[in-house]
Amino acid sequence: MARPWNFSAGPSALPEPVLRQAAEEMLDWHGSGMSVMEMSHRGKHFVQICDEAEQDLRDLMAIPDEYAVLFMQGGATAENAIVPMNLINHRGTGAADYVLTGQWSVKSQKEACKYGDVAVAATSGVETVLDGKQQQPWTWVPPVDSWKVRKNAAYVHFCSNETIGGVEFTDWPTPAQLGADDVPLVVDASSHFLSRPLDISGTGMVYAGAQKNAGPAGVTVVMVRRDLIGHALPICPAAFDYANVAPEHSRFNTPPTFAIYIAGLVFKWIKAQGGVPALERANIAKAELLYGYLDSTAFYRNPVHAPVRSRMNVPFILSDESLNDAFLKGADEAGLTQLKGHKSVGGMRASIYNAVPMEAVQALVSYLKDFEQRHG
Ligand SMILES: *Cc1c(COP(=O)(O)O)cnc(C)c1O
Repeated sequence: MARPWNFSAGPSALPEPVLRQAAEEMLDWHGSGMSVMEMSHRGKHFVQICDEAEQDLRDLMAIPDEYAVLFMQGGATAENAIVPMNLINHRGTGAADYVLTGQWSVKSQKEACKYGDVAVAATSGVETVLDGKQQQPWTWVPPVDSWKVRKNAAYVHFCSNETIGGVEFTDWPTPAQLGADDVPLVVDASSHFLSRPLDISGTGMVYAGAQKNAGPAGVTVVMVRRDLIGHALPICPAAFDYANVAPEHSRFNTPPTFAIYIAGLVFKWIKAQGGVPALERANIAKAELLYGYLDSTAFYRNPVHAPVRSRMNVPFILSDESLNDAFLKGADEAGLTQLKGHKSVGGMRASIYNAVPMEAVQALVSYLKDFEQRHG
């Protein structure tokens, strides 16, 4: 059976060589006589797997030693609570600021309200005019100089790639740009982590659910500056307190061992591709091909302000929405799957993560052309 090209937003396509290697090692990992799923999380084999995954990620993202790298559970959604429980009181103020650019950052902010004094530093949830064009809510990003960060904020949170709206922060603000020098940035980078070089060193913390671009569901990668650890609220569950997880190298309690192992294979695959810069070059070429075609015709439309269009998640609408069902049916027949847009925005969405090759994007663009010829 042929595997279709998978444009799912998450869980999403994984590199085929990773899946093949996992299949080969399924019953016997490296002569251990066991599947990774059957190993003790404190035994030497899994300790090796977990430590190598951490080191490979450190190499790929040039993560400085001042940052702990943690493999946690609960997805980015649980992290929306775990972050304030760990960080909101690190300066004793119990306050945090949030930048809203779409559904994921709005969810983060709502969750944080349970744990302290939370304010909105900026929002793109309104219409605006940019480059002489009307922009709808959540199709643009508020410029850093418009963010109102309070002096007493423990951190300012933003989502660097809004997976649903397809809006990406191409440049992350530097601490100096924020005007409040000692307020660290906290970043939800779930859906573009490892797709482009990201500068961790200007942030307090970056987190990402693995299932978008880095591995299977079940593991959340957390990179957090060590000096911010150790101030968790008393209600923080022990398993989610970074001060417990960091010294145990993610093995405070049983971590998602198999998910960490697969993510580790993905990290090795990325290294073999030439690292993050090589993937970025491929991702730029894929995004240019797809956006270039969408912009060349009135039959399809992407609503996002061009400079902040996501390279990973490409939402688009058909000018005649009554063709949506026919479009999706034809796509499935052409071996292109999971193109339906998020239920809240409708239309279509193509997620073109690291593991989606240029060939898949070429097949999608041929289908877009062909469908337009038949129905335009
Ligand atoms: C998918 C996603 C989430 C939620 O991830 P879960 O693992 O389902 O909790 C949060 N933020 C962003 C940016 C996402 O893409």
